[in-house]
Amino acid sequence: MATRSTIMDTNSFRPESAGDLPAATADLIERRERVLGPSYRLFYRHPVHVVRGTGAHLVDAEGREYLDVYNNVASVGHAHPRVVQAIQEQAAALNTHTRYLHERIVSYSEDLLATLPEPLDKVMFMCTGSEANDLAVRVAQEHTGGTGVIVSAEAYHGNSMLTSQLSPALGTAQDLGVAIRTVAAPDPSRVPAADLATWFADQVAAQIADLERHGIRFAAFLADSIFSSDGVFPDPAGFLAPAVDVVHRAGGVFIADEVQPGFARTGQEFWGFARHGVVPDLVTMGKPMGNGIPVSAMAARHEVLAAFGERIPYFNTFGGNPVSIAAAQAVLDVIRDEDLQLHSDRLGALMLAELRALAARHPLIGDVRGAGLYIGVDIVTDPVSMTPDSATALDVIERLRERRILTSVCGAGGNVLKLRPPLVFTDADLTWFLTELELVLRELPR
Ligand code: PMP
Repeated sequence: MATRSTIMDTNSFRPESAGDLPAATADLIERRERVLGPSYRLFYRHPVHVVRGTGAHLVDAEGREYLDVYNNVASVGHAHPRVVQAIQEQAAALNTHTRYLHERIVSYSEDLLATLPEPLDKVMFMCTGSEANDLAVRVAQEHTGGTGVIVSAEAYHGNSMLTSQLSPALGTAQDLGVAIRTVAAPDPSRVPAADLATWFADQVAAQIADLERHGIRFAAFLADSIFSSDGVFPDPAGFLAPAVDVVHRAGGVFIADEVQPGFARTGQEFWGFARHGVVPDLVTMGKPMGNGIPVSAMAARHEVLAAFGERIPYFNTFGGNPVSIAAAQAVLDVIRDEDLQLHSDRLGALMLAELRALAARHPLIGDVRGAGLYIGVDIVTDPVSMTPDSATALDVIERLRERRILTSVCGAGGNVLKLRPPLVFTDADLTWFLTELELVLRELPR
């Protein structure tokens, strides 16, 4: 039987729990299942039906308030008034596409590129992270003349034909391409090496050699610098640098997938790759970029983009439309004006420290790691063997959900609590979360 998808199937509604649901919820689920394709997965045994939100708070159809500890899309806060206003004003004026001149896309591109290291001097727009990664891999293949791509063992990079084959987190029913190789996640508490950076670079080198042995030319190493679906592995900062050197020495391209760590999420830096002191050849971004409006991008060094640009035209009907760009500009402005990077750094450090204190009292927490407001809590059977305990992790998030705290899980073992609240999470929100988590941990059966 196929292994289920860690990120899609672990925390998901199953029809067996339908009997316990209020009639209105059961009815909506039943109508939904009748019309929507069967690949969708609802979150939770008791799915949540939210109707509005502000900041990190959501309200359900019955008027109950929830704390959102999981949302890096509504990163500047649900329904942020400046983003809403920017969308409204642009929608009321005009919405077209990138084949007409428009001031806004040019000024936003200038603004966005100024956040990136200088060699990254071009940008292209699309609507989803999948499309951004899809284009980045095509660009890398065109530039190198190769097809081989290396990703991490539990990576998720998208849902297109190309990117789903680069996404082992979809489960074993999803084929990986013949030119795809994987490297184990850089998990400092489980890899058999004191020097994580060298160990990781050696793995990448071994996979490049394996591609070559099979007559496949190496094109790219594609990585999410916080390794979110692998289980959140940000540290030690800098460990990616030797692997990126290996990639460049082999003539390959490093694609930083910033869909998760980008836009100030990690606190210390605006982009996740910057924590590692590396400059990527291509950078992809999405999710928080428009605070929920579909907008994504690929930034590139012009020399890496040249071969693709000369040979193949690119048009994306909705990518970079003025309404999406207005939302993206408002997000960038809010991150700066509300000092959200500094806030993510400060509150993230506090959250990490508080969770580590909690771990000292609860041996089922094997490890707590994170950067800024992106934190993984590794739930294990015991902290010595560090055996992943997916059942307990699932129990924790379901119990939190019953207490109206929304989170989920990640990691190859489906056992890592994935905590990434909107960046506008407050000190009071953190206290609310920690109080409920402690109660849940205390009431767990042992
Ligand atoms: N890359 C990463 C690291 C992601 O987490 C995701 C989405 N979870 C994607 C790419 C794909 O983005 P989208 O769903 O917008 O296509």
